[in-house]
Amino acid sequence: MVFARRGILKSALIAVTVLLSGGVPALSAAPLTVVATTGMIADAARAVGGDAVTVTALMGPGVDPHSYRQTRSDIVAMAKADLVLWHGLYLEAQMEDFFADLGKKRRVVAVAEAVDKSRLLGHQNYAGRYDPHVWMDPALWTGVVVAVRDALTEAQPAEAAAFKANAEAYLAELAALDTYSREVLASVPQGSRVLLTAHDAFSYFGRAYGYEVIGIQGISTQSEAGLNRVSELVDLLVSRKIAAVFVESSVSDRNIRALIEGAAAKGHEVRIGGELFSDAMGETGTYEGTYLGMIDHNVTLITRASGGTAPADGRTGRLSAGL
Ligand code: ZN
Repeated sequence: MVFARRGILKSALIAVTVLLSGGVPALSAAPLTVVATTGMIADAARAVGGDAVTVTALMGPGVDPHSYRQTRSDIVAMAKADLVLWHGLYLEAQMEDFFADLGKKRRVVAVAEAVDKSRLLGHQNYAGRYDPHVWMDPALWTGVVVAVRDALTEAQPAEAAAFKANAEAYLAELAALDTYSREVLASVPQGSRVLLTAHDAFSYFGRAYGYEVIGIQGISTQSEAGLNRVSELVDLLVSRKIAAVFVESSVSDRNIRALIEGAAAKGHEVRIGGELFSDAMGETGTYEGTYLGMIDHNVTLITRASGGTAPADGRTGRLSAGL
C-alpha cells in the first residue's frame, strides 16, 4: 500500500517536472503593481500598461491634491508597489518630503516633471515654480503619458513593445480630444471666452484654447480668497456681463456662491454653468471617471454654457450628465 502510494507520488512528481521543463509556455509574469497619486496619472498608467499592470490611485473623485496627505494604508500600498507615480511640480504639496524619502528606497517617478519646462507657466506666488495643472491641456498631457510609458518600461522591460503600442493608441486619443476641444470652443463668441472658477486650475486650458481664465483662489487651494478679491471679481462679472461661473468637483463652492450673491446685489444675474472636474476625475467606473471623459465633460460644458455649440453627449457620445 505504502509502496503504491509512493509510486503514484513519484509519477506525479515526474509529470510536474516534465510540465515545467518541457515545451509548455511559461506562465506570464505577475502584473506590475503601480500606485499613482492622482486619478489622471492612474488612468494614463492603466491605458499604457494594459493587462501587464495593476494600478491603484490614492486620490479618488473629489479629492484635492493640494491638501492631500498620505494615509496609513497609502503608505502600505506604496511600500508594496513595484512602481510609484506622482505628479510633482509641487502639486502634492503636503507629500513632497514623503516622496523625497520614499525615492531613496523605492522606484518613484514624478511624471509631470518630465514635461518640457519651456512649455510650463510660472507659478503666480512662487518664483522658480510652475503651475502644476498640466492635464488641462491634452497636448501638454502627452508629455506625462510618455513619462508614464518610460517609467513602466524601465520597471518591466519585457513589456516594452506592448507599452509602446498602447501609448501610441492613447496619444492618438489625446490628439483627437485636442482637435474636438479646439473646434467646439472656437464656436463660443469671442466676448464670452472668459472662465471664472473657484481656483486657478485652468491656465493651461486658457492658453491652449484662447480663454481668459480667472480663479477666485490662486493656483493652490491652500490660499484663502480675501474679501477684496471677491468684491473685485463681482465688479468684473458686472462690467464684463459674464453670465456663468463654474464650480469645481474638488473645491468648495463657497466663494463661487459669494460671487453670485454679490453680483445679484448689484443687479447682475449670474448662474452656475455647471461643475467642472479640475483636480480630480469623475466617479470611478463612469466615462467622466477617465481622463478622456473628464476633459470631454469640461470642454463640452464650458462650450455650451458660454453660448457655443457642442453635442450634449460630448465628443464620443458617452457623456452621462446630459449637459
Ligand atoms: Zn489645483
